[in-house]
Amino acid sequence: MSDVEKPRSHGRYSIAASARPRELMSDNPRLKGAWMARVITLFPEAFPGTLGLSLTGKALAEGLWHLETIPLRPFGIGRHRNVDDTPAGGGAGMVLRADVVAAAFDQAAIGTSPDRAKWPVVYLSPRGKPFDQSMARAWAGTEGVTMLCGRFEGVDQRVLDHYAVEEVSLGDFVLTGGEIAAQAMLDAVVRLLPGVLGNAASTEEESHSRGLLEHPQYTRPADWEGREIPPVLTSGNHAEVEKWRRAEAERLTRERRPDLWAALQDKATQ
Ligand code: SAH
Repeated sequence: MSDVEKPRSHGRYSIAASARPRELMSDNPRLKGAWMARVITLFPEAFPGTLGLSLTGKALAEGLWHLETIPLRPFGIGRHRNVDDTPAGGGAGMVLRADVVAAAFDQAAIGTSPDRAKWPVVYLSPRGKPFDQSMARAWAGTEGVTMLCGRFEGVDQRVLDHYAVEEVSLGDFVLTGGEIAAQAMLDAVVRLLPGVLGNAASTEEESHSRGLLEHPQYTRPADWEGREIPPVLTSGNHAEVEKWRRAEAERLTRERRPDLWAALQDKATQ
C-alpha cells in the first residue's frame, strides 16, 4: 500500500513518522521510554486538539509523552478508499470494515509490546467499561496505548475479538465519534505522567484520587459581592484547614455521589 499515509506525529521531538515507528523510536534517544499514544482515526486533524494546549501541550513539546495519529482512510478499499459498509443483517448506518481496521491495528502495533498489560489496545465505545481515574492511573503506568476511534455505527466485532481490544466508554451517552473520548482519556492519563504537572501533590488530593470529591476552592478577592471566604481558610491554622477540607470533601461526596460514598464506607469496613 504505497499511498498509506505515514502516521503523523505531534510535538517537538516528532518522529518524521513512518511505517516503522520502532526504528525511529530507537533512533531518537529523546523519545525512548516516553509514554506514547497511537490513535487510529478518520480525522487525524482533530489531534492534538486540546492536548496541544497548556500543560499537556507543553509536555508534548518537551517529549514527556508522544502522540501519533494513524489515519484510517488510507487503509480503505478501492479508488475511494472505502472504510465502511452496510451492517450485516440490515439496519441503519454504516460499520467500519474488519479488514480496514485490522490493517491500521497492524501498523499501530509496530514496535509496541504485544502484552496488553504493558500496551493496552482500546476501542472507544459507549458499550465499554466506564473510564475512571484508576484506569487513567493504570494506563499512566504502561509504555503506551493504542486507541481506535470509531465512527458511524461502530466497528466490525471480529476485529475487536481478533486483536483482544478492550472497549472503554467515556460515559453513558453517545458521541458521533471516538476522537473526543480519546482526547478526554489521554488528558486524564498524561497529567499523571511524571513531570507533566508542576505540583505532583495536586494529583493526590484532587477529586477521585482518594475516592472523595475535592473540597471547594477559593482565592482573591477576600470579599466578593458580599461573599466571604470561609474564615478558617485565612486563619493560618493548617490543621484546622485540613480538617475543614476533609469535612467538606466528605459532605460533597455524600450529597452528590452516594455511590462513591458507599464504596468508601465498604472499603473502610473491609
Ligand atoms: N452504534 C453504537 C454507537 C456508535 S457512536 C452503539 O450504539 O453502541 C460512533 C462512535 O463514537 C463509536 O464507534 C465510538 O468510537 C464513539 N463513541 C460514541 N459514544 C462514546 C462514548 N460514550 N465513549 C467512547 N466512545 C464513544
